[in-house]
Amino acid sequence: GNFTFTMIKPAAYENKHAGKILDMILQGGFRIKAIKLVKLSYEQAGEFYGIHKDRPFYNDLVTFMSSGPVLAAILEKENAVDDYRKLIGSTNPADAAEGTIRKLFGISVQKNAVHGSDSDENAAIEAAFFFSALERC
Ligand code: ATP
Repeated sequence: GNFTFTMIKPAAYENKHAGKILDMILQGGFRIKAIKLVKLSYEQAGEFYGIHKDRPFYNDLVTFMSSGPVLAAILEKENAVDDYRKLIGSTNPADAAEGTIRKLFGISVQKNAVHGSDSDENAAIEAAFFFSALERC
């Protein structure tokens, strides 16, 4: 597919890394098709991460993701999902390659700076969760 969905997570936003992360995204060849700052409720974050609801980290993750604003965006590029996961690096920042967003700005598995969709199907679901057609360029 030609787009993916990302969120800059609350800790990275609070720590003032959003500008640097967006610059890496743009320099990485992605075009921003939609963007907004959103404070999710616990229920909204829980719905977004519903696929993980039986995992032991679910409650902590949902609490964290609703603890402050997230910067949500739709990013366009050829091969967007795979290329974006390369740019962000492994889920655990400690395992992420040098120069990736999670290596540079992640501080734990939970506070790993950004979310990135893991498939074209989920990119479409996640983009539609946050953005109406009117909000997409
Ligand atoms: P994302 O979907 O956010 O891009 P991911 O696809 O790399 O991350 P998932 O397995 O989908 O990872 O997990 C979603 C999120 O849940 C991760 O980004 C991470 O913050 C959190 N998470 C995953 N595994 C753990 C864990 N073992 N302990 C705590 N948090 C975790």
